[in-house]
Amino acid sequence: MPVKHIPPVDLTRQHQVISQQVEAKVLEILRSGKYIGGATVTDFESQFAQYHGTSYCVACNSGTDALYMALRALDIGEGDEVITTPFTFIATSEVIVRVGAKPVFVDIDADTFNLDLAKIPAAITEKTKAIIPVHLFGQPIDMTQLMAIAKTYNLYIIEDCAQATGATWNNHKVGSIGHVGCFSFFPTKNLGGCGDGGALTTNDVTIANKIKLLREHGLVRETGAKLTYRHDLTGLNSRLDALQAAILSIKLQYLDSWNNQRQEAASYYQQLLENVTEIKLPLAVSGGVSVWNQYTIRIQDSSEETELNRDTLRKKLQQQGVSSMVYYPLPLHLQPVYQNFNYQRGTLPIVEQAAEEVLSLPMFPGITVEEQQQTAYCLKDCLVY
Ligand SMILES: *Cc1c(COP(=O)(O)O)cnc(C)c1O
Repeated sequence: MPVKHIPPVDLTRQHQVISQQVEAKVLEILRSGKYIGGATVTDFESQFAQYHGTSYCVACNSGTDALYMALRALDIGEGDEVITTPFTFIATSEVIVRVGAKPVFVDIDADTFNLDLAKIPAAITEKTKAIIPVHLFGQPIDMTQLMAIAKTYNLYIIEDCAQATGATWNNHKVGSIGHVGCFSFFPTKNLGGCGDGGALTTNDVTIANKIKLLREHGLVRETGAKLTYRHDLTGLNSRLDALQAAILSIKLQYLDSWNNQRQEAASYYQQLLENVTEIKLPLAVSGGVSVWNQYTIRIQDSSEETELNRDTLRKKLQQQGVSSMVYYPLPLHLQPVYQNFNYQRGTLPIVEQAAEEVLSLPMFPGITVEEQQQTAYCLKDCLVY
């Protein structure tokens, strides 16, 4: 086959579909002189809340800030513990440390890469205040079981939906089931802006109001949005700007069709690769609908003596023009920054093995049948030698 470069993600294909709409809207905003706040932002918040079936949405400037403000809004801080997964982007645990709490890492399920719910109760102590599950790679965690655990132990659930906008559990959108849902609009996420952005969803008016205060320096706004310069909390500047809100409003209308394209691409990979014994394909859990932010396979035996080492395979694929990614090569409990928590290698064996075996294949709306065929062809070819 001729070598054609296949990127892990190509955002220009998304943009082509909506370029006229987006470019016209951006010009309109540039000419309006209204760049921060206003109806563009509140309209997007209403649309996003409506899409999720939640009472409130508060937009902010990143997924990281969304998670941080969720913890602050729930009064989680010094002396508290928060349970989360070691297999996620570091932002999930970073915010726990930033509010002064301790991240408690629980091992993952080998099939879904999400938190192993059976292992959570043993990690709960008197200090535990919340659990942050991550719907990793677009695959929802079992929210029915998780909410039951939360109820039994009286804990908050903060859903990290950064990789799963549009995914559902039992026909409910992720982010609408826990106490707070946190979203990222980083460009490569399922709903991605043209820059940074984020949002929180909740059905609790007290939480929503506190997040609004935190988002803007703890500033109290009276009805009519009048500025008071009275500050009730130490907050941050985490507004979503009007340009991003406008672009996200347009993209939200395409989210379901883009997620469908990802689902079709995932089925096609399944069909192309199901007979390849050396790799394990991602499992779709019943009860949930994944939105495939990543299509992540496992190289079954990645012991160093065999030819099947994941990193060697990745290099060979690259030589044939296929770019793959490794999310994530080092579990969070082993990160240098968390040395002070004294986690040892070997304590979370499932995630430690997964980190050595995972490989994410090219996956994005607009990926072509030919690109998927070439990816599968090269993968099989590399596995033979
Ligand atoms: C991207 C991501 C975040 C952080 O979002 P930003 O918008 O980049 O701050 C948090 N958690 C997970 C799981 C992510 O993938």
